[in-house]
Amino acid sequence: MSVLDRFLRYVQVETTSCEDNPTCPSTPGQKVLGRMLAEELKELGVQDARMDENGYVYGVIPPKGKPDAPAIGLIAHMDTSDAVKGATRPRVIRNYDGKPITLENGTVIDGFDFLPELAGMDLVVTSGDSVLGADDKAGVAEIMTLCERLTAPDAPEHGKICIGFTPDEEIGRGADLFDVPAFGADFAYTVDGGAVGEMEYECFNAASCRVTVKGVSIHPGSAKNQMKNASLIAMEFAGMLPPWERPEHTEGYEGFYHLCSMEGTEEKAVLKYIIRDHDAAVFEQRKEAIRRAEAYLNGKYGEGTVEAAIKDSYRNMKEIVEQYPEILERAKAAFRAQGIEPVISPVRGGTDGARLSYMGLPCPNLSTGGYNFHGRKELIPVEAMEKMVDVICSLIAG
Ligand SMILES: [Zn+2]
Repeated sequence: MSVLDRFLRYVQVETTSCEDNPTCPSTPGQKVLGRMLAEELKELGVQDARMDENGYVYGVIPPKGKPDAPAIGLIAHMDTSDAVKGATRPRVIRNYDGKPITLENGTVIDGFDFLPELAGMDLVVTSGDSVLGADDKAGVAEIMTLCERLTAPDAPEHGKICIGFTPDEEIGRGADLFDVPAFGADFAYTVDGGAVGEMEYECFNAASCRVTVKGVSIHPGSAKNQMKNASLIAMEFAGMLPPWERPEHTEGYEGFYHLCSMEGTEEKAVLKYIIRDHDAAVFEQRKEAIRRAEAYLNGKYGEGTVEAAIKDSYRNMKEIVEQYPEILERAKAAFRAQGIEPVISPVRGGTDGARLSYMGLPCPNLSTGGYNFHGRKELIPVEAMEKMVDVICSLIAG
C-alpha cells in the first residue's frame, strides 16, 4: 500500500486528544486507530505487534544482516491537535499549480512563502473544517510504509528496529506511559516535524507558575490605608517582569515569560504564567526573577500577600542528545543520502522526544514533510511523504 493510501485512511479516524480528560488515551478514537495500526503491523509480519491498555502501539522488526547494529526506534503520535477538532475529509490536489487553494468550505490557503515551491506536486489538503492531521499521521504513515518496504526481498540490511505509536502527544502526555525498557531501542527518532529536511534536538526548558495574590477588601468609602487591592498588586507583579521578554517579542533562542490568564477581585487575584528558555542557566534565572518579584511585593504589602508556585514541565533534550553525537550524524547522513541538506533549528516548544530523552531514550525529531500544523490550512505533499520514507529507510540502513 502506498504512503498516500495509508495516510488517507488514518486521517479519517477522529483522534483529537482532550486535555480535560485524565484517562489515557484521552479520547476513544485513538484506540480505534491504535487497533488498526497494531493489526496492520501484524499483517506486515512485524513481531510482537500490539496495542497496550493505554493505547500505545509497539512492534519490533528483527535485524537483517546486521546483528550488531544499534537498535533504532521510530516514533510517531496518533492524536491530533484540538486547535480545530475532528477528523478531516481529505482531498488530493493533483499536479498543484502553485496558486491559492480554495478548500471545500471556502477557506483559502494563500500567502505562504512555501506554496510556489510546491507547484507540480500532489497535495493533500483538508475540507476546511478541521486540521488535516499530517501532524502526526504523516509520521505514522511513513513509518508504516517503511515497515512494509522492509518485508520486501530486496530490503536493505538493518539492525533491530523498534516501532512506537503514542497517544496524547498534543496534550503533553505522549511520553507519560511510554514503556522505554519494553520498547527496546538504544535511541530513537520521532517523525513529527515540518518540511522535509527539518531536524530538531533542542527544545525549551519549561515551567508553569501560578501567582496567587491575597488582598484585603474593605468598603471603598472607608478603605484609606487599609485596602490591599489584590488585582492591582497582581498587575504590579506583571509589571515587574521585563515586557520585551514575552512571546510576541521573542524568537529563536530567546526565552520568555508568558501570562496565559488572569482573574481577580480586590480580595484575590490569580495570574497563570508559563516560563520558557533554551538555556538551563537562564531558565533558572527566570524562575529566580519570579521569586524576587514575589519577595519584593511581600516586603511591601506584608508576608503572604503574594505566592508564586513554580512547577517544572519539561527540559531541553539537547543536554542528553548532545552526549550521543552519532545519533545526529546518522540523521544528517540519511537526509544527505536522499539529496536533502538537513536544517537544524531549535524548537520553541517541547516534544515527546524531550521527555523520552530524560527517560533514557535519546530522541531527536525528524520532519514529516507537512506544513501549517494545528490549523485548517494544514497540508502535505505526497512527494514529501514518499521522500521521508526514503530518508528513514536510509536512516535505519545507515
Ligand atoms: Zn506532532
